[in-house]
Amino acid sequence: MNILETMHEELETLKRKGNFRSLPPLVHDGREVILNERRMLNLSSNDYLGLANEPSLREAFIRTLTPRNFFPSASSSRLLTGNFTACEELEGRLAEMFGTESALIFNSGYHANTGILPAVSDAQTLILADKLVHASLIDGIRLSAAKCIRYRHNDLAQAARLVEQHHDAYRQIILVTESIFSMDGDVNDLRALVRLKQSYPNVLLYVDEAHAFGVRGANGLGCAEEQGCIGQIDFLVGTFGKAAASAGAYIVCRKVVREYLINKMRTLIFTTALPPVNIAWTSWVLGRLPEFSDRREHLSRISSTLKQALAAKGYDSPSESHIIPLIAGASEAAVLKADELQRKGFYVLPVRPPTVPEGTSRLRFSLTADLTEHDIERLIEAID
Ligand code: PMP
Repeated sequence: MNILETMHEELETLKRKGNFRSLPPLVHDGREVILNERRMLNLSSNDYLGLANEPSLREAFIRTLTPRNFFPSASSSRLLTGNFTACEELEGRLAEMFGTESALIFNSGYHANTGILPAVSDAQTLILADKLVHASLIDGIRLSAAKCIRYRHNDLAQAARLVEQHHDAYRQIILVTESIFSMDGDVNDLRALVRLKQSYPNVLLYVDEAHAFGVRGANGLGCAEEQGCIGQIDFLVGTFGKAAASAGAYIVCRKVVREYLINKMRTLIFTTALPPVNIAWTSWVLGRLPEFSDRREHLSRISSTLKQALAAKGYDSPSESHIIPLIAGASEAAVLKADELQRKGFYVLPVRPPTVPEGTSRLRFSLTADLTEHDIERLIEAID
C-alpha cells in the first residue's frame, strides 16, 4: 500500500470510530454561530469574559490607532528587528501586574509550552507531569532531553512519592501542571504543589494558566493569584487567545529565566514576532483586566447553575470552573448528544480521543460571561 492509500484507510477507520475531524465552515454573529444555515448559541468558545465579542472595546482600541502606530507585521524575529516597543511595553505591564521580576511573551501558548521545557531541561532533568496536561505540554516534554514520568491526574500524593524517590538522582525535577484543566475543568491545588517543591532544593514548578488567566483571581491574573502563590511558581505561563480576547502567551518569571529563554528557546528565537498591533491590543485589554470583576462573578454564577443542573440530571462532572464536561462515554454517544443539542440551537462540540482518554468522550460546555441566566436555563431544559 502506498502512503496515500494508507492515509485513506486510516481516515476511514477514524470515521468508523466516530473520531474523524473536519473544519466547520462557521459564520460568526455575536454570541451566535451559523453552521450550514443553522443558527446556534456559541457554547464552545474560549472567549471566557466575552471580550472578543464586545464591539465597544474594539471601537475604543481602534480610536487609538493611526497609520503611524498601526504595525501589521513585526517582519522578523524579536532577536533581529522584530522587537517593537509594544513587546517591551506589554512585558513591563505583565511584570507589574503580577509583581514579578520580569515577563516574556510568545506567539502562542503552543509556542510557549513547546519552547520553554526543551530550553530549560537536559538529560539530568526529570519532568513529573500530571496525566491530563495539554498536548502542547506533552509535545514540549517530547522535544526536551528530560526523562518524564506522568502522575495520576491531580494525585499530589503520588507526585510527592515520585519526587522523594527521584530527587537525588537528577540535577533538577520540574513539576508540570495546569491550573484549570482544559478538558475536565477542575482546579489544581497550587499551594500544595508549592509546598511540595519547597521541600526540596532542586524542584521547580511549571504551571499553565491558559484557562484561568482573565477568569480567576481578584484582578483576573489566574488561580495563582486566587491561591496567593504567584511568586512561588518558577514558570508561570498563560495565554492571550482565550479570556484576553487576543493571541499569544506569556511567562512571568525571574529575570535570569527570561534571559535564559531569550538565549535558548527555539520557538522564540526562530519565529517572526506577533504583529505589534496585536501586541498593543493585548496590552490595551490587560490594562482593563481588573475592571472585569462583574464578568468574572457572573461567569462563576452561571457555571454553578449549570453544574448543579447537570448533577440533578445524573451527570457527574469534575468541573470546578466555567469549563463543564458532560461525559457521554463512547465517541458515538458524544457525537449524537452534540448533534441533538446543535439541532436545538446550542453549539456544543463532542471531545473525543486522542484529546481525552478512550471511553471518556464528552460534550464540553465552555461558558462565557456574555451568556445570560436565561440562556443557561434554556440549555438546561434542552439537556436530556
Ligand atoms: N495550554 C493549554 C492548557 C491549552 O488549553 C491551550 C489551547 N487550548 C494551549 C496551552 C495553547 O495555547 P494557544 O492556543 O495560545 O496556542
